[in-house]
Amino acid sequence: MTSGDWNTTSPGRILIVDDAPENIQILHQTLKDEHEVFFATSGAQALQLANQLEPDLILLDVIMPGMNGYQVCKELKQASLTKEIPVIFITALNEEHDETAAFAVGGVDYIAKPIRPAVVKARVKTHLMLKRQREFLSRLSLVDGLTGVCNRRHFDERMRLEWRRAHRNNSTLAIIMADVDHFKRFNDTYGHQAGDDCLKTVAESLQAALQRPADFLARYGGEEFVCILPETTPQGAQVIAERMCSLIAEKNLPHSTSPTASHVTVSVGVACCLPDSCPGSPEELLMLADECLYRAKREGRNRVITIQTPA
Ligand SMILES: [Mg+2]
Repeated sequence: MTSGDWNTTSPGRILIVDDAPENIQILHQTLKDEHEVFFATSGAQALQLANQLEPDLILLDVIMPGMNGYQVCKELKQASLTKEIPVIFITALNEEHDETAAFAVGGVDYIAKPIRPAVVKARVKTHLMLKRQREFLSRLSLVDGLTGVCNRRHFDERMRLEWRRAHRNNSTLAIIMADVDHFKRFNDTYGHQAGDDCLKTVAESLQAALQRPADFLARYGGEEFVCILPETTPQGAQVIAERMCSLIAEKNLPHSTSPTASHVTVSVGVACCLPDSCPGSPEELLMLADECLYRAKREGRNRVITIQTPA
């Protein structure tokens, strides 16, 4: 991710909702050159398309037969998939209480009919940009600035989620903790810039060892990384942990002051449990992985130690 991300020129997907085809026509004409435009002619259709298309912005008529615009907006704001989509109301009503109602149900803006294309274009542009900025900031807050993998905060959230999911499905959950061996010596030998580069390379290698989209890697702190592997057996997690070690060895980053090897290595602890049969909490599972990691350190580093909690 780069700092320019929110400023991209992606056209933005816009859903126009109006029961009058002539209004859709005007809005479509106004926006079609710069955006990807879709339309719905009823509230029910709008909700369906909003879920299907996940648009970046919705232009929503207030007065429609059946479900009106306020009701549609309320529903959008209650569903996790659609609640972040900005909604601009477009309507002929222009009394003050109607504007208030538009904001009260979660609309971000209000444009009065008759439709003036320049105004619509400008507001659409502003709200698309604000949405991209919000998304960018929320991604930033979940990413480790140095390595680009997820940060500790994101990990804590994800861990709770996967823990609950594993309980619900009564499926196994594995945790891998990996720590760079003799990293302080590495920094003392090669300097902090090289230390940073080393952590980036280690993060890349750890990421490369993960194969399924559901596998999750985060920087836990300092030179320590953690992975969550849903629906993974101890044997499966062990294979991945060993692949992590070999991918890092293949990078062959020189570490002349390491007593363990001539290149950078990692020690890895793996813990796995079937949540139904393992007592306690995600924290306890993490602690087990951490204990394994420290055993790997004690037993000579550059190795994987795996434990399965009692079944
Ligand atoms: Mg209408």
